[in-house]
Amino acid sequence: MNTKKTTKNPSEKKLTDAEIDSYKNKLLILRARLSGDVSTMTNAALNKNRMEASGDLSAMPIHMADVGTDNFEQEQTLSFMQNESGILDQVNEALVRIKEGTYGICDSCGGRIPKIRLNFLPYAALCVQCAENLTEDENN
Ligand SMILES: [Zn+2]
Repeated sequence: MNTKKTTKNPSEKKLTDAEIDSYKNKLLILRARLSGDVSTMTNAALNKNRMEASGDLSAMPIHMADVGTDNFEQEQTLSFMQNESGILDQVNEALVRIKEGTYGICDSCGGRIPKIRLNFLPYAALCVQCAENLTEDENN
């Protein structure tokens, strides 16, 4: 990661103080949950997704390969499963960025991170494009 903090994406509006406040609240709640009972939260998210996906909660085993990744919340759940402490670090880093006034700015390209992404991943440090590039690198 570099330290570029210039904004490159003028089509995405700057976050207002109130919006940053609400993301900060989400992050604080997330941090509390991550510090405490992670499994309860993970199970709750999975149950919700399974119910939405199939309409049937009863007999679906949890196989991560079957869950799919086309849904932000599922993606978030998978992240929790894979790297709980890593997420906690990201949450803490996001709270630091709020303090420093750089929250919502991509850590890699300096563009604004779209609000729709922050709504699902309030600790996101990268815009969609940079996150995708990173994922491709990891897969190759
Ligand atoms: Zn970026």
